[in-house]
Amino acid sequence: MAVSLQSEPPPGPSSSNARGTRAHPRASGLLSALGGPLLPTGSPFAWNACDRSLYVQFLTGLLMLIVAFSFAVFDGWPFLLQPPDDAAALRTTTILAMAALLFWLGFYAWTRRFYVRRGTKGSRLLFATIAAHIVTGTAVCYALGPYTAVSGLITVAALLLGMVLLERRWLWMAVGGWLLSMSAVHVASKAGLLPFFSLFEVSFEQSDIAKFAVERAVAAALIYIPLALVMDHLIIVWRQDEQSLSEAAQTDSLTGVYTRGFAMGVMERALRKAVRDGAPLAVLMLDLDHFKRINDAHGHARGDLVLQQTTRAMRSALRAGDIVGRFGGEEFVVLLPGADLEQAMGAAERCRAAVQKMKIPGARYLSVTASVGVAAFPEHGDSIDTLLRASDAAMYGAKANGRNRIETLAV
Ligand code: GH3
Ligand code: MG
Ligand code: MG
Repeated sequence: MAVSLQSEPPPGPSSSNARGTRAHPRASGLLSALGGPLLPTGSPFAWNACDRSLYVQFLTGLLMLIVAFSFAVFDGWPFLLQPPDDAAALRTTTILAMAALLFWLGFYAWTRRFYVRRGTKGSRLLFATIAAHIVTGTAVCYALGPYTAVSGLITVAALLLGMVLLERRWLWMAVGGWLLSMSAVHVASKAGLLPFFSLFEVSFEQSDIAKFAVERAVAAALIYIPLALVMDHLIIVWRQDEQSLSEAAQTDSLTGVYTRGFAMGVMERALRKAVRDGAPLAVLMLDLDHFKRINDAHGHARGDLVLQQTTRAMRSALRAGDIVGRFGGEEFVVLLPGADLEQAMGAAERCRAAVQKMKIPGARYLSVTASVGVAAFPEHGDSIDTLLRASDAAMYGAKANGRNRIETLAV
C-alpha cells in the first residue's frame, strides 16, 4: 500500500515558532491593518501565558469600557438603580473607571505590539496582568461598594477569567489577591486612611475596625472561595479531558504506537535536532506481507491481534528512544535517532526476525512476515519527506524481491 509522503506544512506566520507561541495568521484587509486577530486563536489549552494575558486584558478592557460608559453618560445606570446624591463621589468613580479603561487599552495595545509579535511566552506578563486586574477591579469596586451590581459583575468576570487562565495556580492567585486587596481597601477606608467611603456603602455604626475587618473578610470569603472551588474543580476536569483527548490524538488506539500525524511532528523535530548536532538518523518502513490473506483466512479480529503483536515484537527489537508510528493499516514507520545506515540495517533485520518469530495467541502456527525498507540521513536525504520516500521505495523493493526481507536504496 502506498504511503502519502506529505510532510508537515512549513513553519509560516500561522504556525508555531521555535519558542512555541503562535504568531498571528497573516490576514488580509482589516485584520492586516490591525496586525492580526484581536484575540489569540486555537484551543485555549494550547495558549501560552502571553496569549492568556492578551485575553484577560481584552476582556477587562471591555468590562471597563461598559462601566466607564455607564458612569460617564448615564450616571451609573444600570449598575446604580438611582443616581447617587454625592456628585463628587460619582465624578471620582467615573474618573476611576475611565482611567482603568485607558490603562487596559494601553496595556492591551502594548502586549500585542511587543509580546505577541516577538513571540515570548510571557509568564511575568501574565503575573502583571492579573495584578493589574486586581488593582483596577478593586479600585472600581471600592468606589462603588462591594455589594452593588458592578462589583458583582467584576467578581463574575474575575472567575470567568479564571476559566480562561485554565491553570489552578493563576486562579488562586487571582482570587487570593482579590480578597486581600478588597479587604485592605475597606479596612483602610474604615480607618480613615482612604479619602472617601464607597458610593453606595451601607454605613456601619460600629467603630471597631478589627471586628469590621474580620466581618468583611468572612463575608468576602463566603462568596469567593466556594466559587473559586467550583472553578478549581472545573479546571481539573477540563485539564483531564484535554489530556485524554490529546493522548487519543497522539496514539493509535489499536496498537498504542504514535498516530501518523503525531509521529510526523516527532520525526520532524528529531531530524532538525540531528541536522543541528550533525548526528546520523534513520527511518524504517515496515509492512506486513500478505496481510490481507491473514485477515481473509483468520478474520479481522485475529488480524487486529497480529497488528498488536507486531508492534510488541518491533518494540522488543528496538531501543527505548526509537519512535514507532502506525502509518497505514499494516504499515509502520520507525525513526532511529543517532543510528547510521549500518546500524539501521541491523535494527531492520532485528524487527523482521522478531515479527517472523512472534506467536499469535489462538493461532500458534500462523506465520507472519514483514518487508522492511531502510533509509538514512544524510545518505538518502535531508528531510523527513525524502527519507520516507526512500524507505518506502526500498520497502517495495523488498516486496518485489520476495518479501520477508530488508532492503535499502543504493547510494
Ligand atoms: P503486501 O504483502 O503486498 O503488503 O500485501 P498485503 O495484503 O499486506 O497488502 P494490502 O495493502 O493489499 O492489504 C492490507 C490489508 O490490511 C487490507 C486491509 O483490510 C487490512 N487492514 C488495514 N487496517 C487494518 C486493521 O486495523 N485491522 C485489520 N485486521 N486489518 C487491517
Ligand atoms: Mg501496506
Ligand atoms: Mg502489506
